[in-house]
Amino acid sequence: MILNMRVTYFEKIKRLLCFKCQVYLDNNATTCISRPVRKTMNRVLKHYWGNPSSAYHMGKMSSQIIEKARQQLADAIHAHSHEIYFTGCATESNNAVLKTLSNYFYPKKKKIISTPVEHPSIINTLEFLKTQGIIVQYCPVDKYGRVSPMDIAKLIDEDTFLICCILANNEIGTVNNVKEIAKIAKAHNVLVLSDCVQAFGKIPVNVKELNVDYASFSAHKLYGPKGIGALYAKISSPLEPFIHGGHQEEGMRAGTEAVHNIAGFGTACRDVNKHLSHAEKIRDLKEQLTRQLKESKSDIIINSPETDCLPNTISVTFPNINSGELMMMLDYHGIAVSSGSACSSHINKPSHVLKAIGLSDQSARETIRISLGSDTSASDIQYTIKVMENYFKRESI
Ligand code: PLP
Repeated sequence: MILNMRVTYFEKIKRLLCFKCQVYLDNNATTCISRPVRKTMNRVLKHYWGNPSSAYHMGKMSSQIIEKARQQLADAIHAHSHEIYFTGCATESNNAVLKTLSNYFYPKKKKIISTPVEHPSIINTLEFLKTQGIIVQYCPVDKYGRVSPMDIAKLIDEDTFLICCILANNEIGTVNNVKEIAKIAKAHNVLVLSDCVQAFGKIPVNVKELNVDYASFSAHKLYGPKGIGALYAKISSPLEPFIHGGHQEEGMRAGTEAVHNIAGFGTACRDVNKHLSHAEKIRDLKEQLTRQLKESKSDIIINSPETDCLPNTISVTFPNINSGELMMMLDYHGIAVSSGSACSSHINKPSHVLKAIGLSDQSARETIRISLGSDTSASDIQYTIKVMENYFKRESI
């Protein structure tokens, strides 16, 4: 006990002296900007500030930077560059597909099938569309948040125009069998949108293999900047302009492009294999963390599945410990984790994902999400375990 406290105290001093006062374990909320991305963005901000729509040299240089980034993203997800549209964020990409397709099909077809574990950028848009006459059916998931392709198949009818299924869940890390879902959808002539935001950079994402029609992406989950996302839309799949104005992004998304953000996103995509190569190390650290947490508190419940899960994500329920208090305690010790998705952590409502996998309101309020990143080290994990162990010991007295 004394030794543990000493280690914790020593670690704290060391971290403060090294200016490393943070153990950042909330990489599903956002990631730090990598050095190469920062370098690219600085260069673009300094030298390439011309309007990409301008016909003279400066404009053309900016335009070329955008096209290079488009190709880098296309290469990273195995798409064609004509299938990539830059957006302001993945929330915008998801809104764009759901709203323009509803507009395109309604009233001939009215039904969208989705899951109850989607990100709020999907769920809240679907709930809005319900007020516009769209019928939304949420296919139930199992206790790990997995949706069964066969259950989805049972919901498809003549009225269905879209299936919307997240590839990897942001709160518990569950990876869904989107490839099988898309196969079923194709057999029924139904389109598929998959939110690939959390999967990208953590597991390989190949849109052609998945055979989805639409996929959404966000740079800031991939060591890129905030305020830039992308939409993949298969060439043959319908898409209508979602921001009206100028001709940018093939007339689909008007507005002068954020060239520096796009360039940063491109560099992050170029480095995607580097991030993927860290997966094994990250998975090992996650397993070590899980094992040691179980040893120090035997009644914890791991909500993330052991297989078909993002290598970096773990959702843990600590019975009789309020997640808000636990987070604050960890924050005091310089450790950042979250109690759910960053988008909903300010709402004092139990997470819809945790509810969908069967947790009670109380258990959901006793749950935290820990998400590791490329920079997470063994000493970060050791330090986190020590801090938690000390807390559990104090709590049990
Ligand atoms: N989809 C998922 C699964 C996410 O985790 C997030 C962000 O947390 C989003 C969509 C929204 O991304 P953005 O912040 O780019 O709007």
